[in-house]
Amino acid sequence: MTQETQTKPFVRVAIPTPLHQLFDYRWQSPFAAVPGTRVKVPFGRRSMVGIIVSAETSSDHPPNKLRAVTSVIDQEPLLPSQIMSLLEWASRYYHHPIGDVLCSALPVLLRQGKPAELAQRETYYLSDVSALPPSASRAAVQHTLYSILKDAAGAPVDASSFVAISPRWRTAMKPLLAKGIAGMALSTVLPENKASDKGPLLQPEQVTAVSHIVKALGSFSPILLNGVTGSGKTEVYLRTIETVLANNKQVLILVPEIALTPQLMRRFLGRINGCLVSLHSALNPTERMQNWLLAANGHADVVIGTRSAVLTPMPDLGLIVIDEEHDGSLKQQDGFRYHARDLAMLRARDAGCPVVLGTATASLETLNNVAQGRYQELVLAQRAGDANPPILALLDIRRRSLIEGMSDRLLAAIKQHLEAGNQALVFINRRGYAPTLLCNDCGATADCQRCDAHMTVHAGRARLRCHHCGSERAVPACCETCQSERLDRVGYGTERIAAALEAHFPNVMVARIDRDSTRRKGALQKQLDLATRGEAKLLVGTQMLAKGHHFPGVTLVGVLDADRGLFGTDFRSLEQMGQLIIQVAGRAGREKKQGTVMIQTRHPDNVMMQTLVSEGYAAFANAVLEERRLAAMPPYAFVALVRAEATDAASPHRFLEAVSRLLSDPPTAGVFVMGPVPAPMERLGGRYRAQLFLQADKRSSLNHCLQRLTANPVKMREAQHTRWSIDVDPVDLF
Ligand code: ADP
Ligand code: ZN
Ligand code: ZN
Repeated sequence: MTQETQTKPFVRVAIPTPLHQLFDYRWQSPFAAVPGTRVKVPFGRRSMVGIIVSAETSSDHPPNKLRAVTSVIDQEPLLPSQIMSLLEWASRYYHHPIGDVLCSALPVLLRQGKPAELAQRETYYLSDVSALPPSASRAAVQHTLYSILKDAAGAPVDASSFVAISPRWRTAMKPLLAKGIAGMALSTVLPENKASDKGPLLQPEQVTAVSHIVKALGSFSPILLNGVTGSGKTEVYLRTIETVLANNKQVLILVPEIALTPQLMRRFLGRINGCLVSLHSALNPTERMQNWLLAANGHADVVIGTRSAVLTPMPDLGLIVIDEEHDGSLKQQDGFRYHARDLAMLRARDAGCPVVLGTATASLETLNNVAQGRYQELVLAQRAGDANPPILALLDIRRRSLIEGMSDRLLAAIKQHLEAGNQALVFINRRGYAPTLLCNDCGATADCQRCDAHMTVHAGRARLRCHHCGSERAVPACCETCQSERLDRVGYGTERIAAALEAHFPNVMVARIDRDSTRRKGALQKQLDLATRGEAKLLVGTQMLAKGHHFPGVTLVGVLDADRGLFGTDFRSLEQMGQLIIQVAGRAGREKKQGTVMIQTRHPDNVMMQTLVSEGYAAFANAVLEERRLAAMPPYAFVALVRAEATDAASPHRFLEAVSRLLSDPPTAGVFVMGPVPAPMERLGGRYRAQLFLQADKRSSLNHCLQRLTANPVKMREAQHTRWSIDVDPVDLF
C-alpha cells in the first residue's frame, strides 16, 4: 500500500447489527482506507469486526463524538469492489441491514476477525551439505533431524514428519537453522484435482449445446439448458468447463445440496483437472475459510457450492452454472433472504460471462424470461445413451382396494418389475410412520403443543415428533384427552410404506431414503450404494430420492401422494408438485430398459394433472403460468411479505396494522398492501405469526414502498416484543 499525503479522516463501516445503517468512525492511519477491508471497531461496550464501506471527508456526526477505528485487520481488501456493490444492491433490494449482508458474505472465521491467510505447508531442507553432523550422543534429536534431511538429499521434508521423533523437535531444529545447516520454507497448499476419466462421446444435441455456450463465453448471457432428466446436462457443463479452464478463467457451480448429491460431486472430481474446491455447510470452519480464500485469490479454478457460494469473490470468473435452477433451496429462508439465482445473474453481468441454468423442470420465472427473450434456451430433448423417456400414467385409486395406501395395481406392477429382475422406487413425500395419531373414541389427535400441527408418529423409535419445530414425546399408550386405548395411526409416511413393502415382498431388500434414515454420517451414501448396485430391489423415499440420482436398474416409479400438491395452500404448490413428479419420474429407465411411472390419484380428471402426465412439463408449466397471470402473481407481478411473530397472538397483528398504515398512507402507485392475516400455520414453535402481503406491478414500486418501512421503523409498544422481517420474492407464503 502506498502512503497518501491526504487520507480522508472518516470511514463508514458496516457492522453486523439489525440496524439499517452504517457507522462512522475516525480514521487515524497514515494510509488511505480501502473499502472492503476489515477493521476492529468499538461498538457500545464491545469490540466488533466490521467492513469499511467508504472513506469520507466529513461525517454527519460531530467529530468529537466519533470513536476511532481500533485496528485494521487486512492489508488488502477482502471483498473487491464488485462484490461490495453487489451486496449493497442486495441490501437495498431485499431490505436487509447492510452490516449483516456484508458480513454474511464472509466465512465465519473471517467474520470473527481471523487473519485471511491460507494454510501454509511448512518444510525443511538441508542447506549445507558439507556441515558436520551434530553429535549423536549429546544431541540425539538434532542428529536424527539432520539425518532425515540428509537422506532427503535437499528435497523438502514436511514438518509433520518430525513430530513422531520428538514433541520438542522444534527446539532441536533451532540450532540447525541458526548455523545455516538447515533451511525452512513455507508454501501454499493447493488442492490439485486430477481427472481420472474422459467421459462419453457427446450426442448431437449435447454438441450443439456445448458449442453455443462456448460461443457465449466472454460476455454476459443467461442460458437455460432445458434438458429432460437423464439427457446429459452434467456432461454439457463438464465439456464447457474444460474450455473455460483452458482460458484460465474460474467457474462457479451452484448445486442445491452437496450432501444429498455425492454422486454429482464424484463426477466432477473424476473429470476436472485443476484446483477444485467446494463450499457448503458440511465443511468445518477452517476448511471453509481455506476454500473461500482459494476462490477469492484466484487459485481455485472451479468452485462447487450451495447457495451462499454465490457471494464468494472470484477475480477471474468466466462461467456460472446453476444446476437444478428450479430448486427452492437456492433461496435463503431466514435472515438475509436472497435468491442465489438472481444474485448469480448480477455477478455474471459484472464479470461479463454466461450463466447456464440447467434443469428438466424450469422455474416459471425462468420460463417467463425465456418467453420475454431475456434468456436463451438450449434444449436437450433426448435422453443420453440408449435410454428412452419414461411413460407416465395416472392410477385412479377411487373405490380401489388399497393395501397400506398402495393400490393393488401398483403392487402388481411392482411384482412384475421385480420378477423381471429390475428395481422399483416408491415415492412419498412424508417421513415417519403416519402423519396423525387419532383417537377412535373422542376424535382427538395428538398435536404439537407449540405449533398448529399434528405430531407425526415415528414407529421405529416409538416417538411422536413435530416436523415443524422438532418437539418430541413418547407415543402415548392411550388417548391424551379421554384415555381410550383405541388409537389409530392415520395416513402414511416412508417408514410405514417401507414396512408394508417388506411384508408384501418378503426376501426383497428395501432401502428407505429420507432425512431420518440418513441422519448418521455415511448412512445416505450406504443407502444410495445399495440402490445403485441393485442390492436393494425396492427403494422408498421422500424428495431426497428425486435429487438427480442415477439408479441404473430402476424401471418403475410409483408416486403415492401426488394429490397433496394439487390443493396446497401456497401459490407455488402446484408448480412444485409438477417439478417433483417429473424429477422422481426421471429416476425410471435411465439406461437401456424402458421406465414406467404410476401416479396414484383421486383426481384423475384434474386438468393440471392430466396436462402434466399426457403433455409433459412444458405444457403443464404454460398452464400454471396462465393461472399466475390471471391471479397477478409472480412472475407477472412482484410480491413481498412482511412477517411478524410474537409469543402472543395480538401483537403481530397490531404491529402489522401499523406497518400497513405506514405503507398505505399515502399509497404507492401500483402497490397493493393486503392483510395482516395469520400465517398459514399461525402458531409455530410457540410463537404466533402474521403477515402482510404486498403485490406490485413493478419491481421498482415494490422496492420504493418497502423503503418507507426500513427508513421509518414502527415505534409502538408491540414492536418491542415482535420479531419481524421482510421477504422479497418469497418462495413460499408459509
Ligand atoms: P442429467 O444431468 O441431464 O440428468 P446426466 O448428465 O446425469 O443427465 O446423464 C445421465 C446419464 O447419461 C449419466 O449416467 C451419464 O454418464 C450418461 N451420459 C451423459 N451423456 C452421455 C453420452 N453422450 N453418451 C453416453 N452416456 C451419456
Ligand atoms: Zn380420545
Ligand atoms: Zn411443533
